[in-house]
Parts: sequence; C-alpha cells; structure tokens
Amino acid sequence: MTRIAFIGLGNMGSGMAANQAKAGRHVTAFDLSDAAMVRAEAAGCHTSRTAGDAVSEAEVVITMLPAGHHVRKVYSEEVLPQAPKTALLIDCSTIDVDSARWVAGEARGAGFRFADAPVSGGVVAADAGTLAFMVGCDEGDFPAVEEALCPMARAVIRAGDHGAGQSAKICNNMLLAISMIGACEAFGLAERLGLDPERFFEIASKSSGQCWSLTSYCPWPGVGPKSPADNGYAGGFATALMLKDLKLAQEAAAKSGAVTPLGAQAEALYQLFDRLGHGGKDFSAVMQLLRGDLASLG
Ligand code: NAD
Repeated sequence: MTRIAFIGLGNMGSGMAANQAKAGRHVTAFDLSDAAMVRAEAAGCHTSRTAGDAVSEAEVVITMLPAGHHVRKVYSEEVLPQAPKTALLIDCSTIDVDSARWVAGEARGAGFRFADAPVSGGVVAADAGTLAFMVGCDEGDFPAVEEALCPMARAVIRAGDHGAGQSAKICNNMLLAISMIGACEAFGLAERLGLDPERFFEIASKSSGQCWSLTSYCPWPGVGPKSPADNGYAGGFATALMLKDLKLAQEAAAKSGAVTPLGAQAEALYQLFDRLGHGGKDFSAVMQLLRGDLASLG
C-alpha cells in the first residue's frame, strides 16, 4: 500500500486527502487546524502531531498550502529534514514561480525528486477527484508523479521542468479572468442595447465571441448551463483567489518582461471588487459591478 503524507487539509486538501484514502492508500495527514485533522480522520486518514512526523515514513509527500512562504517553510523545516530521501515530493499549492523553483532546488540539492503540480477545478473537483494537474518536474519523474496524483485527477499534464506547472497555472488563470471580464462587458452592453440576454447567449455561443467563460460558466443569471450566477454567485472560484493568481501573474510578467496590459487591468478590477467587500463571491460576480448593480449582491 502506497504511504502518502498529506500536509494542508483546507478547502482543497481535505477532499484530495480523502480521495487518496478512498483509493486504498495509507494516508498520514497533518494540518495546523484541529478541525481539519478531525475531518481527515473521519475520511479514513491517519493523523500525526507534526508535519515532520507525517512525512517520516512517506513514499509520497503531497502539500496543499496557501502561499509561497508556507511552502518554503514547511519544506525547509519539516519535509526535507525528515522525509526519507526516496520519497517523491509534490507541491499542489498555487504559489509564485520563484518559490516553486527555490523549493525544487532545495529538494533536489538534498537528493529528493520534486514536482510543482498546481490544480484547476476548485473545491467541487477536489472532492470529486476530478482535478486537472499542471506539472513541473524532470521528465523521468513524471510517470511516478502521475501515478501518485491519479486518485485526485481527471487529467495530469506535464508542462515542463520545475516551475512550469505554476507558470501554466497563472497563465491559464490570467486568460480566464480576462475572458470572464470580456463576457461580462458584452452582457452589460447587450443589456443597454436592449438585447434579450438569452438570445445574445445563443448567438455569441455559436459565433466568434464563444469562450468557456460564456458557454460553460455564464456570468448572467438564468442563461446557459447552471453556474454560480444562478446561485447568487455563491460557491465556485472566489474573487479573492482569482485576485491572488492575477497578482502572481503580474509579478511574473514584471520579472520576465512579458507585456500583459489586460492582465494588469483584470488585476485592478478584481482588486477593486475585493476592496468593495466581495472577495468571497465567485469571480463571475464582477458582472454586477460592471452593470452598476452591486446592491443585488447583498
Ligand atoms: P485553505 O486556506 O482552505 O487551506 C490551506 C490549509 O493549509 C489550511 O487548513 C491551513 O491550516 C493549512 N496550513 C497552513 N500552514 C500550514 C502548515 N505550516 N502546516 C500544515 N498546514 C498548514 O486553502 P485552499 O482553498 O485549500 O487552497 C490551497 C491552495 O490551493 C492555495 O494555494 C490555493 O490558491 C489553491 N487553489 C485553491 C482553489 C480553490 O478553489 N479553493 C482552486 C485551485 C487552487
């Protein structure tokens, strides 16, 4: 039975660890939150007193932590000193590319195999075991990474070497934010021009404006397949998390010299929306900011 150590049992990690246990793997889980540890035990995981204890006999270590500084700390203070050198280390958190590369360098310097493997799909996919993983690792390590992630995944794709998983994630989410704002602006203009939203959806989804934000995740309530817009913009992918990813994208753009004016505009718009108190709403709720109807968000 594969021995997995799982560190970080929050909104995403709890369902991911549970799916590893469901697949018959021996999961030793750790989180700073007692409530998260109780949930993990109920889902069939074993728990440990520290992250270091959790990894001490692991064949695979998976981390799902909030941000780069958490990942740097957990790896340098707990994982690298205490895991067996044979363990495969996989960080699934969304973090900055520099931190991902730094942790990869430390891990490889200490003799470990390491992969950055951030995810797309959110809490629903984490619970269902249908996440998409974007992986940065040595080519030779990829089959083992794929095998380790399998119980949590719909797709596992190698983006390239260390840091490439995080790079793919922030590029994808910058594109998603820009296309969502585009869809919202189009619906806002269609409304002002007196178009029926349902008819506009039907036309745009069969025309060149078609995109995932429009046809699979429509920001206009009551139109298209069911989406967070039909549920008061609750659930889904929170504005605060999208803002985090847009900030990472802008940092990476500044460092690499990429020109991303629409990414910068998207960051500014989501920053404003967050400051107005809507960080917990799904990112498609920016529809109501652009329509001038924030009151409808409560
Ligand atoms: P979360 O805040 O719910 O969970 C993070 C967990 O890490 C918390 O339970 C916290 O107690 C734990 N933690 C922090 N420091 C720790 C430490 N030193 N040792 C052990 N545990 C520690 O966050 P989340 O929503 O689960 O997101 C996790 C990561 O996944 C983030 O990087 C996020 O950007 C990314 N992500 C989230 C979503 C989403 O929809 N929630 C989607 C894709 C990617």
